Amino acid sequence: MKKDDVLQLTIEDIGSDGEGIGHIDLSAGSYDEPQRRYTIFVKDAVIGDVVTVKIMKALQSFAYAKLVSIDKPSPDRVEPKCPIAAQCGGCQIQALDYNKQLEFKQKKVMNDLVRIGGFDESLISEITDPIIGMEDPYCYRNKEQVPVGTDKDGNPVTGFYASHTHSIVPMTSCAIGDPENDLILNTILDYMKAENVPSYDEKTGAGLLRHILIRSGVYSREVMICLVVNGDSLPSEEKLVELLRVLPFVTSISINTNKSRGNVILGRKLRVLWGEESIVDTLHIYKVEYEETAHFIPTGEAVNFRISPLSFYQVNPKQTEKLYSIVLEYCRLNGHETAWDLYCGIGTISLFLAKHAKEVYGVESVEDAVRDARNNARLNNIENVEFETGRAEDVLPAYVDRHKSEHRKHPVDVIVVDPPRKGLDDVTIGVMLAMAPPRIVYVSCDPATMSRDLKKLTAAQKDAAGNEFSYKLQRVQPVDQFGHTVHVETVVLMSRVEGK
Ligand code: SAH
Repeated sequence: MKKDDVLQLTIEDIGSDGEGIGHIDLSAGSYDEPQRRYTIFVKDAVIGDVVTVKIMKALQSFAYAKLVSIDKPSPDRVEPKCPIAAQCGGCQIQALDYNKQLEFKQKKVMNDLVRIGGFDESLISEITDPIIGMEDPYCYRNKEQVPVGTDKDGNPVTGFYASHTHSIVPMTSCAIGDPENDLILNTILDYMKAENVPSYDEKTGAGLLRHILIRSGVYSREVMICLVVNGDSLPSEEKLVELLRVLPFVTSISINTNKSRGNVILGRKLRVLWGEESIVDTLHIYKVEYEETAHFIPTGEAVNFRISPLSFYQVNPKQTEKLYSIVLEYCRLNGHETAWDLYCGIGTISLFLAKHAKEVYGVESVEDAVRDARNNARLNNIENVEFETGRAEDVLPAYVDRHKSEHRKHPVDVIVVDPPRKGLDDVTIGVMLAMAPPRIVYVSCDPATMSRDLKKLTAAQKDAAGNEFSYKLQRVQPVDQFGHTVHVETVVLMSRVEGK
């Protein structure tokens, strides 16, 4: 196999960046050499397509190829709703039917648990529930961070970065974002033209407007607009406010100053131009009942969150409330328990648990997030939760040591973890196993690192008295938080079982 070779193949799988994967059998070079299965990655091809491709880069066991033609489209190929889906880096698999996307994600979670986690295939099939898909896989994101640039004619444009690059593909309406944003972006572009506001230029560091951050409350319908500026102000700010404040649902307009070079979108300085600094949104708590698949029954309970331009907040609240309702269900709380929420962010899961536990401890490394978490607890009049700033691998051992020196047992009924993509640290895993709560709930945005961690968490253990125990996987629930992307979330319940 070499560069510029042209060949035909069938796409059988999806790679980690959404590219299609096919195989060919390389014939044996000599009689004692076996046939070799050779893997080819093809961007913009979907499972089931028969395609002709041209090899761009050939390595020992795999190659990257360019799509030349789709000779027989997959029966699961659909017309992407977004005209620039192929160029934009945001979605990767819009051309695949949504039900097939869900099937792919379900398989990915189960395969990783078997291949990386080393769990028995029949156990995984038995305990994994069908993935929870979105009712409407479009218009679900509550946040857009849109870069501002200049087109070849010198006009300001908003758009999205093309896949793996920093060049802007012009657009004002994103198929997975809020349709109202189109009007906001066009209004800002009109203002830029009228007032000659220069777009920021990444290469030279000159220009003013860098990014536009728009956030909307799915339930509150409040909309926040934050303009990220390479400076402290914009020309004719009153005109800008006049144009934006009359748009539907807008309740907050602010300027964020970011004079740094580089990729970080937001600076630390924020100035409100009009309205409130933050918006409020709600996550509802559901009772989950399983009847083949999960059903979500409203409980009337909800948690409110105040979201400033600088705070982290889940981008798909409708799926998040389902995800966290499952976490709550898995924790089986009845008001008497002590629960830990590691990697708690702004306290989303902690506050869900606090309503049903005796006490909750949240641990988070980012100080601003902890401040938001404490404010959110206050906003909801929740008093049985405490947040600690620090890394889980530092906070947890210190907590256990403190209890040891006070000769107290540390009563922990359930530990919930929701780590970033890289998963858990070995120290954290060690302390979790030493604390040995009856239940552990793992929330993950990367099934591969989760499977690696679950292997360690389910290894045979001995407590201080020499009694053997181990954690057993009880339930696995994949959830689609990000339709049209290759990402998948998973919640796993483990229980402590005595003996071997
Ligand atoms: N459960 C939260 C956030 C999950 S994202 C929510 O639903 O909103 C993961 C969080 O882990 C981030 O907020 C990140 O800042 C935090 N984090 C990353 N490394 C950490 C560590 N070593 N210890 C504690 N928190 C960490």
